[in-house]
Amino acid sequence: MTIFEKIIAREIPADIVHEDALCLAFRDIQPHAPSHLLVIPKKAIPRIAEAAAEDKELLGHLFLVASRVAEKEGIAKSGYRIVVNCGADGGETVPHLHIHILGGRPLAWPPG
Ligand code: 5GP
Repeated sequence: MTIFEKIIAREIPADIVHEDALCLAFRDIQPHAPSHLLVIPKKAIPRIAEAAAEDKELLGHLFLVASRVAEKEGIAKSGYRIVVNCGADGGETVPHLHIHILGGRPLAWPPG
C-alpha cells in the first residue's frame, strides 16, 4: 500500500482540500511553492504510463478538479503549473498517480 493509499484510507493525516467519489486533493508535505497541492485518483493507478483507455474520464476529472482547486486556492489569476512526474527520470517518488499544482510565485522554465 502506498503512502497515498494510506491518506485515502485516512490511516495517515493530510491537509485535504477536496474529496469526491473519484479523487482527493491535499497539500504536499514538502511544498516547493507557496501553494503546492496534489490531486490523486482513489483508483490505484501507479503512474500515467499505466493508465488505461477506461481511465479516460477519470483523467479528465482529475485535471478539472486541479483547475477548481487552483481557483479555490486563489492562484488561478496569477497562474500556476500542473506537473505529472512519471518514472525515475521524471522524478516520480510515490507510485500512485498524482497531479502536482504549484503556484503562488513565478516558476522557472525549463525545469531542472
Ligand atoms: P513525486 O515526486 O512522486 O512526483 O511526488 C510525490 C510528492 O508527494 C512529493 O512532492 C512529496 O513531498 C509528497 N509526499 C510524500 N509523502 C507525503 C505524505 O505523507 N503526505 C503528503 N501530504 N505529501 C507527501
